[in-house]
Amino acid sequence: MKTMDYSGVITNYVCTAACRHCMFASSPDRPKDFITEEMSENIAKTLKKTGTTSVHIGGGEPFMNFQALCSLIKALSKNGISIDYIETNAFWCKDDDFVKDRLETLRSLGVTSVMVSVDPFHIEFVPLERAIRLCVLLDQCDFDYFVWKERYLRKFISIGLDRTRTYTKDELCTIIGEDYIPRTAEEYGLGMNGKALFIAEDLFEMRPAEDWLSPASCRSVTSTSHCHIDLYGNIVPPGCPGISAEANDFLNTNFSEEKYPVLSRLAHGGTSALYSYACENGFTPDKKGYQSRCSLCFSMRKYLNSVRPSADISPRCFYESMCEADK
Ligand code: SF4
Repeated sequence: MKTMDYSGVITNYVCTAACRHCMFASSPDRPKDFITEEMSENIAKTLKKTGTTSVHIGGGEPFMNFQALCSLIKALSKNGISIDYIETNAFWCKDDDFVKDRLETLRSLGVTSVMVSVDPFHIEFVPLERAIRLCVLLDQCDFDYFVWKERYLRKFISIGLDRTRTYTKDELCTIIGEDYIPRTAEEYGLGMNGKALFIAEDLFEMRPAEDWLSPASCRSVTSTSHCHIDLYGNIVPPGCPGISAEANDFLNTNFSEEKYPVLSRLAHGGTSALYSYACENGFTPDKKGYQSRCSLCFSMRKYLNSVRPSADISPRCFYESMCEADK
């Protein structure tokens, strides 16, 4: 079994925000499923078996269900796994005492580091004052923390954004420039997958499907570094949202063609093998072309999900959310 280095646990896919760059296409509309105590235990035991010693925790927004988050931390700690950091958009930081209370609880569970999201995509959903309040209190409570990305926090403060409100895309175009979406994506060095695929359409030249075909194994689908294990106990390969396999199968690269028709083809025959499978099932490539190999891969999986759903095209709600975002 391979170790899951630099990896994370996804507590839920639902989020208070629906950022336009979100890798997992999280939003308030996704199912309100949160990691259970039983699954937390199972995941912690699996991680321990692989020799993993630390993970980060993300979502969706992990602070939407604080009890579930704390149960996960306890289960991880019981199995000797420490928390690198917890990601949050700070939506919950409306009141000093409430925040301090939660930080004290986290501290008592051994958490020492938090990542606070601030950027031109999150500001559409979370007022800046909440992230600032969280940073101030993390500092006061002696936590380590980092703002992802700090350059936007500095920028928003320096241009005097109203900290008490969110901003629409149109307002941001006026304040920080018409091209702020692709510019932010470039500055971010975004992994162009998930909802960022829609941003990538304006950034890269579209090329015919054939240009993106390769029989070489897509190495991401067999990598256990920088991957995520989700609340359903499935592992999502690094940078490949919408693909997953049961943890034990993934960690042993046990991809049978029957159970995992998509993963097995990507692992053994790359995008060429997936393309043949998709075409056998009626897929026709878009004449407009695709901006990347992952964009073609997503398009094939979206199609297969509608005609030939399989265990590895999951979670289903990712595809629903992507279709909604594409309207
Ligand atoms: S082509 Fe598909 S499997 Fe390969 S990295 Fe992109 S999303 Fe992942």
